[in-house]
Parts: sequence; C-alpha cells; structure tokens
Amino acid sequence: MSEDKDLQEKEMQGREASDGNTKEDEYEKVCFLCRRPESKTGPMITLPQNIHICTECMQKSFDTMNNGNMNYGDLMSHMPNISMMDLSSIPNQVSEKQRVKKKKKTEEKKQEFTMKDVPPPHKIKAKLDEYVIGQEHAKKVVSVGVYNHYKRVLSSEQKSGEVEIAKSNMLMIGPTGSGKTYLVQTLAKLLDVPLAITDATSLTEAGYIGDDIESVVSKLLAAADNDVERAEHGIIFIDEIDKIAKKKNTNQRDVSGEAVQQGMLKLLEGSDVEVPVGANSKNAMVPLATVNTSNILFICGGAFPDLTEIIKERLNKKSSIGFQADLKDKYDNDKNLLDKVTVEDLRAFGMVPEFLGRLPIIFTLQGLDEDMLVKILKEPRNAILKQYEKLLEMDEVKLEFEENALRAIAKKALEKDTGARALRAILEEYMLDIMYEIPKDDSIGEVIITEEYIEHIGGPKILLRGQEPLLLQ
Ligand code: ADP
Repeated sequence: MSEDKDLQEKEMQGREASDGNTKEDEYEKVCFLCRRPESKTGPMITLPQNIHICTECMQKSFDTMNNGNMNYGDLMSHMPNISMMDLSSIPNQVSEKQRVKKKKKTEEKKQEFTMKDVPPPHKIKAKLDEYVIGQEHAKKVVSVGVYNHYKRVLSSEQKSGEVEIAKSNMLMIGPTGSGKTYLVQTLAKLLDVPLAITDATSLTEAGYIGDDIESVVSKLLAAADNDVERAEHGIIFIDEIDKIAKKKNTNQRDVSGEAVQQGMLKLLEGSDVEVPVGANSKNAMVPLATVNTSNILFICGGAFPDLTEIIKERLNKKSSIGFQADLKDKYDNDKNLLDKVTVEDLRAFGMVPEFLGRLPIIFTLQGLDEDMLVKILKEPRNAILKQYEKLLEMDEVKLEFEENALRAIAKKALEKDTGARALRAILEEYMLDIMYEIPKDDSIGEVIITEEYIEHIGGPKILLRGQEPLLLQ
C-alpha cells in the first residue's frame, strides 16, 4: 500500500514538473468519475488526455472487475459488443468555467487580504461620495459596517478564542431607483472583492421550480473566477428581499416566501455550502466546491412597499393615547417616515424574526427628489452627462446643458416614479437626434441643450465653429 502511495506521489510530482504551466497548477484537478475536486479526494491518477481519476474510483473499478472473478478475456467474451473505452475520443473532461482554483497555502493567504486593503470608514465614504449622490446616512452606515466586517474576518483568521465580533449583514430599505444596487456595486469595486447580485424573487425552497437558495453562493464563486478563497471574502447582494415576505392568507406551502427566509438562515449565519462550479444546479456532471459563508457579507435590499402604512399605523396608535394625543394625519405627509422603521414593523410586513435577527444593520435610503436627480445627471464620476460629453468630444463637438433643461429632465423622471433609473431612458430619447445629426455636419462646434428642446417647444442651440449661436427649429 505504501508503495502505492509513493508511486502516486512520484507520479504527481512528475506531472507537475511536466505541466510546467503555473496557470494550470492554480486549478484543482477534478475526478472524471465522481466529479469531486482534488482537495476532497486526495491525490489523483492522471491518464492521457488530461483525465484524472481519484484513487477511490480507481479502486471501485478494479473491485467491480475482480468481483466477477473474471480476467480481461472473460470480461470481453461476456460482453462481446463492448471494447475497451478509447479515452482519446472523450473531450477534455472539465470545461474552463467548471474548474476550481486551489486553496492557497497560509503564507500566501496572509499576503492576499490584509487590513491594508480595507480603507477606514471615512475614506470608504469619501470614495462612495464620488459616485453615489445623497444618501448620506446610508453611505455612513455601509462604510462602518463594511469596515467592521472585514476587521472581523481578519481577526477570526488570525486568532481564535478571543472576543468574537458578530457578523454585520445588512438590510437596506429604499424605493426603486434610489441607488441600493449601485451603492453595493460601487462598494465591491472600490474594495476589489467579488460581488454576486441575485433577485430574491427567483429563489425557491430546494426541490421546487426556481433557483435553490445556495445558487447565490455559486454565483459568487463564478464572480471570483472559481477561486474559493476570494469568494469567501466576497459580498452577496440579494435584491427584492421584500418579495420573500411571508404570504398572507394562504393555505398552500409558502415555497417562495417564508421557506426561502428559513432556508437562508444558515447561509447568513455562516455554514459550509457545497456549490456546483460553473453551473446553476447540482447534477452528476458538475464538479462541486465547498464554500464557507461565515466571512461573506450579505446585504439584502428591498423597496418594501406599504411599509410606511405599517409604520404610520404603529405611530398613530402610540400617539392617540393619553395626554400626548396627536392629530391622526400627523404622519401622512412625513417624508422621512421610513427612517422610523423598527424590527417590529418589518415583522408585521412578513419577515420572520430569525431572519431579521441575522441582519443586524438596518438602514434606509431616501427617495430621490428633483435636486438630487439633477446632481445625479451631472456630478458622479461616470455621470450620464459626462458620458454624452465624451461621446461628442470624439466628434470634436462640445456638448452643454442649460440648468433649466436639466430640471425639466429631472421633472420628467420624477413623473415616472422609478427614481434615477428613468434618467438615462429620457436622455437617450433626446440625444438620439443630436447624435444622428451632428456627425453629418463638420462645421458644428457646439450644441447646447435648452429647456425648450426638452419641452418639445424648440430646438437645441447649435454653434458653428467660430460663429454666433444659431437656433435650430
Ligand atoms: P435600486 O435602488 O432599485 O437598486 P439602482 O441602484 O439599480 O436602484 O439605481 C439605478 C441607477 O440609477 C444606477 O445604476 C445609478 O446609475 C443611478 N442612481 C440611483 N441612485 C443614485 C444615486 N444616489 N447616486 C448616483 N446614481 C444613482
């Protein structure tokens, strides 16, 4: 047996040397028969065509042959139509996106992710400010939450037995188009950690039509280039979390509501999850990798419509008793009602207490008003206006927007009630003509978008190179 092992080890070394390709070495080998990666099976035997088989499967194959007490000739005569498999006819066993990266050794690991990679909260917020307009409170909470999260991750990696810092998963409440997804995307980009975004509406309890809850981890692994280690420091954003509220008045099994919340508990808290690599569902042909979720930051977001009604009802109930009784419609026009949300309100909405317990940081984003929309148009680093300016700059044409034109666009976006999301669609509509006409005429040097053009009562101002403005009708 020990001879066997020696042989395998020699074989492994030989193979590694012959590979010579360090990029190949970064990936784990996957058993051709049972699809488990090398970290689970131990060393593997390599056959031609880059096919690997784990010792267990190899042994099983031998056992099957031996059990019949047959030699090779007997076996063939019993199965006349079967000849030995031609391995060269089999396509390369694991596709590029199904390969799992090997775990790194400890010395390498420490170098990879240190506290130096995580800026302090004020710097995180300053970076967020460059992209996300307004939402001051949300940006502050996220910056501190993320900073503490990575402190916790690194302290748990370095020492055990000390005070354990609790996990700081977050719940973000805010209307559509107020920047929830954008905030998380920006955050992941500036921290350079992998991010997976999923919609809670597509999730169902395992075994039902829809994605398994664990598929979110699979997505994260894909976002981390199948590098388990990187995925374990990543961020998972689950959007539309309000859609998995407990269904009211139903006597069927709630497979896409309460059951999903229950199913998510273990993930949020931290557990080992076996996820398919390079595919959405587990099946015999997909290799599996184990990802531990205890250091993954989960951020849930949702618009929670009607939550304001629940908050209002609670506040009205409180203020209608005793000396401090208030008018019943006191909170009707309160714009910051959502800020007063409590865990009780969310429970009344249909979120289960255990689920809420695993999302200790709850904060809200405000609906965007006209001023904020105007700022979103022009201020962020990759603001839509800047993008159009750059496009026209390539034609050597200067693009400008009058302040009133921007206000008119913001007003139109407000009417659509989809937050900042409407801005691009509206602007696209107006810019189409401009971008079609301008390259026709080389003499045009500048275009100024006016309020009249936005309101469809006039055209943009066109300036020819070295001439006075001309009004297009
Ligand atoms: P939701 O809150 O529904 O997740 P998104 O984050 O997807 O909204 O926002 C849609 C788009 O609107 C983003 O891609 C971003 O360009 C823009 N946007 C929304 N809110 C802001 C904001 N506060 N600052 C800058 N851009 C924003």
